Amino acid sequence: MARIAFIGLGNMGGGMAANLAKAGHDVRAFDLSADALDRAKAAGCAPVGSATAAADGAEAIVTMLPAGRHVEAVYAELFAAHVSPATILIDCSTIDVATAKHVAALALANGVTAVDAPVSGGIGAANAGTLTFMVGGTDAGFALAQPILAAMGQAVIHAGANGTGQAAKIANNMLLGATMVATCEAFLLAEKLGLDAQTFYDISSVSSGQSWSMTRYCPVPGVGPDTPADHDYQGGFATALMLKDLKLAAEAAKDADANTPMGAQAADLYQRFADAGQGGLDFSAIIKLLRG
Ligand code: NAD
Repeated sequence: MARIAFIGLGNMGGGMAANLAKAGHDVRAFDLSADALDRAKAAGCAPVGSATAAADGAEAIVTMLPAGRHVEAVYAELFAAHVSPATILIDCSTIDVATAKHVAALALANGVTAVDAPVSGGIGAANAGTLTFMVGGTDAGFALAQPILAAMGQAVIHAGANGTGQAAKIANNMLLGATMVATCEAFLLAEKLGLDAQTFYDISSVSSGQSWSMTRYCPVPGVGPDTPADHDYQGGFATALMLKDLKLAAEAAKDADANTPMGAQAADLYQRFADAGQGGLDFSAIIKLLRG
């Protein structure tokens, strides 16, 4: 079992660090929040007072932070204090592709291997240890990160070079955002045309319009499996987080000169919904905006 530093014990990181401890790893945990440190302690981790204290002697350093600037700041602090070349840096945060590549290059310049390993799956999957990890990095980096990530998830996939984990994550979530909006539109059109929602679901879920947004995450209450729509759009994947990922996708598309008009349209709609004070609702609640 390894000594692991875990930095960022929020909604996602708290459960992930707990699963590493449950798997028998020696987890040194750090967060700026005292409450998060208390929860990590209760979950079997050893709380420490700084990122560098967590990293001292660690074989792996896992970060689960809000955005690229937080990852850059923590890595700068770690490199200033020296990180052993034997340590693997694993960033599980969702951040922009450019920063993911930049911090990996910075790590290399400091003689350390880094991978980007963002996740698919929300807080429930983080707590249950059923996340999917998309990993960007060298073969050697992937081999070091894989067993650690496997203790927190059900699938660990090597996407390619550094930055491709983040690329996979935001391309996937752009697709999710766009299909959710399209699914909501289709239900509303069917309704206006006099079609019962359940009947439309029964037909479309076995026809060519089928998607995960329809059959696994139906935005209409009372139709399909139990989803946030059945709980007044509470829980699930917040509109604000979907908007964050759509903005990251738009930024990456601009840098790469990729034409993504549907992603841009989805970002615009989620921005309007968040501006209307609905950023805390599950992203399938976008059907409310379309209803007007
Ligand atoms: P969160 O805000 O709940 O947690 C982030 C934690 O990082 C906080 O506890 C904060 O105190 C801590 N932090 C910030 N700066 C720090 C620093 N310098 N040193 C130590 N700790 C610091 O966010 P979250 O929901 O856990 O999300 C974390 C990441 O996972 C984000 O990048 C998010 O986009 C991604 N993500 C979230 C979900 C989700 O459903 N919540 C799903 C997939 C991916």
